[in-house]
Amino acid sequence: HPSDYRQHPLAQRAREVMPAGNTRTTVFVPPSPPFAVSGSGAWVTDQLGHRVIDCNNNYTALIHGHADRHVHAAVMDVIGTGTAFGLPTETEVALAEHLRQRTSIERWRFSNSGTEAVMTAIRGARAYTGRDVIVRFAGSYHGTTDAVADRAAPGVPRSIGASVVVVPQGDRRALDAALAEHADDLAAVLIDLMPNRAGLVPAEQDFVRHVREATTARGALLIVDEVISFRLAVGGLHRSYGIEPDLVTLGKVIGGGFPVGAVGGRADVMAVFDPTRGGAVGWGGTFSANPITMTAGLAALDCFGEDEVSRLNARGDALQGRLKDLGVAVSGRGSLLRIRESVDLGVLWWHLYRSGVLAGTNGLIALSTPMTDDDVATVADSVAVAVAQTKNEETG
Ligand code: PMP
Repeated sequence: HPSDYRQHPLAQRAREVMPAGNTRTTVFVPPSPPFAVSGSGAWVTDQLGHRVIDCNNNYTALIHGHADRHVHAAVMDVIGTGTAFGLPTETEVALAEHLRQRTSIERWRFSNSGTEAVMTAIRGARAYTGRDVIVRFAGSYHGTTDAVADRAAPGVPRSIGASVVVVPQGDRRALDAALAEHADDLAAVLIDLMPNRAGLVPAEQDFVRHVREATTARGALLIVDEVISFRLAVGGLHRSYGIEPDLVTLGKVIGGGFPVGAVGGRADVMAVFDPTRGGAVGWGGTFSANPITMTAGLAALDCFGEDEVSRLNARGDALQGRLKDLGVAVSGRGSLLRIRESVDLGVLWWHLYRSGVLAGTNGLIALSTPMTDDDVATVADSVAVAVAQTKNEETG
């Protein structure tokens, strides 16, 4: 029961040292979330010994679930030879080579989070174009920096509105108006092709083509944020739209379970970060491209080729079909789904958790390769029951 977690000694200790006992707002569920104790494959065990199928997978980051043997072995090999150096290592070259081969995108740089990747891509676009304005889409999440935060959020400076313009997702007329208004000062358009927080609905093909053409026509860059969507296609979701971004931002799955972010792009654009050039954009990060993350990421991606990506997406499509058959409203594509029922998501989350399914606090479901057909069937049934329970409580 939720109150068992709130009264647990670990939750009480946490409240003494962190606001609401919590560091990541995204993993907070009232009155107090369970604490993970261990994970293995598709399963997680909490501090009360309750076992759940992990459909959260650290907010889509874990493609192979927990303690994957291959990733674990690769990390154990490097961890004994030093974890961070004030020098580059071969591991970052290897991951960049892998990403280039996977995406055909020429140049790469690494950071420790998707937030930093987006932040630096924006800086790079501004430096490359010599312009200030970024256009982005309402409801899309791109991390926590000022430029991409909700305009009305506390602590975000009012002045940010002068250099960041927000238009409704998919609204061609609003986009064109914004591009026309800021024509001479437009640095880039930033887009997530299947924004989770905006409902996990894939962008329309025509709209995405239009964004690509309109940015090119105005001498601005197109930044595609693939921090979540990269798992959906071997070279990234943008490839299924047949467009070439100027910059992409990655994170999550490319770190094999460790903190990561990356920016990739054409060589001439990425040259804005080239330290041998005058006026280059600085890019530091004490732990950027650390050998543990780079090695884990490469190990995870090596086991996530064309076949595995297709298999995982097929499983997600099957789950989506099954949920629809059971009368549950869902959105998403391939290995990423979202429960789209207008119910109290906190109540739904606990019903799901009690029935053995760990989802995102917004109803997000992300599959992992160790999940079996049985696991997926269990998830479908549990979701249908949990949605019905939540609705019953609300009407009853
Ligand atoms: N962009 C997108 C599309 C994301 O979903 C997220 C995180 N969920 C981020 C950026 C930020 O990544 P991070 O949490 O690694 O900073």
